[in-house]
Amino acid sequence: MADNKTMLNETEILEKLSEGFVSRFGGDGFRFFFAPGRVNLIGEHTDYNGGHVFPCALSFGTYAVARKRDDDRVLLSSLNVGAGLVSETSVSNIVKSEGMDWTNYPKGVIWAFLEAGHKLPSGFEVLFYGNIPAGSGLSSSASLEVLTGLVLRELFELPNVSGVDLALYGQKAENDFVGMNCGIMDQFASAMGKENHAIYLDANTLKYEYAPLTMPDAKIVITNSAVKHQLASSEYNTRRAECEQAVREISAVRKIETLGELTPAEFEELKGNLSSDVLVRRARHAVTENARTLDAVNALKAGDIETFGKLMNASHDSLQYDYEVSCPEVDVLVAEGRKIPGVIGTRITGGGFGGCTVSIVKNEQVETFKETIGRIYKEKCGLDAIFYIASPGEGAHELK
Ligand code: ADP
Ligand code: MG
Repeated sequence: MADNKTMLNETEILEKLSEGFVSRFGGDGFRFFFAPGRVNLIGEHTDYNGGHVFPCALSFGTYAVARKRDDDRVLLSSLNVGAGLVSETSVSNIVKSEGMDWTNYPKGVIWAFLEAGHKLPSGFEVLFYGNIPAGSGLSSSASLEVLTGLVLRELFELPNVSGVDLALYGQKAENDFVGMNCGIMDQFASAMGKENHAIYLDANTLKYEYAPLTMPDAKIVITNSAVKHQLASSEYNTRRAECEQAVREISAVRKIETLGELTPAEFEELKGNLSSDVLVRRARHAVTENARTLDAVNALKAGDIETFGKLMNASHDSLQYDYEVSCPEVDVLVAEGRKIPGVIGTRITGGGFGGCTVSIVKNEQVETFKETIGRIYKEKCGLDAIFYIASPGEGAHELK
């Protein structure tokens, strides 16, 4: 059974980073930084619809060791990519690399800082290492962006850059430099996470509230399906376009900026104005998921995890049937999970088309859950699921 017990611990990671940094760049005087990945408990595909999300930062993420340089050069390297490869650019000439080059994420953040008017008086060198499985929907990309922003803020002493700014620059890098449409949730959770708390975030206004996430009788289990279908980014862009279309069509009778403004009851009255069944289902997901998210936060605050679990299940059904962003493998994980006693709720998390599920599982059933799901998933899909027990962690910070 694969699980996160094989992950390096922080001490081991910092040792590897020190060694790797010295062998690439030499010397001393470097500093360590960390930015977490995130899991979204509920509120999926609501962030770009003006709705609420409810993520928490994870205890794993991306690490960096970094140091200022005396010249203009920017040297980027990652233990996760290539063997000892160092990519070079310069502060005065940040240009996007062709194709899916990972350096576009840190370069994009440098670009976003410069666009915002921050002065970066010299270059720097940085080595990254992440222990988030890339592309599994736990947002390794956002953690890399937020981390790069933190490195810039700390190395170049830019105290007026807030945690929220780190999230915004990361999102800008991903949207306008890397060229991948994304909401603000991932970067926000990575920058602003708080230990033992989840963040109830209005993605429209960036108003947020921490909700204590303490469930003495249950654990958050993340199951990585180990699949990532190619559809993900093109379908994401299609869903955004469909929701924008729904806003335009509804606005013909009632002016709205986003679907998040509507209650489910209002939507039922207005849905007749939508021109296709597909648009009705897409919009219904955005509206009902937003309502479920608020209900879920209230349930959790009241210590009612049974209701929280039911809302998670309803969220999955909506994502599977209305929004159509799940996939057969993930649906197997969810359907089989629901059969196990002590599984309070289970759903797909992240952008969709693969990636992870998030489940609330009673403490005493966690081992059974991992064993049973692991076995059935292998039988039905021929794949090894990977399990992580998530504890809500602290947002991006320097490691002293
Ligand atoms: P995720 O759901 O993990 O955010 P994405 O496809 O959005 O998936 O981002 C994954 C990409 O981010 C990787 O392919 C790589 O380009 C980049 N990335 C993430 N973490 C690292 C890292 N530690 N080192 C280098 N590149 C990374
Ligand atoms: Mg990403």
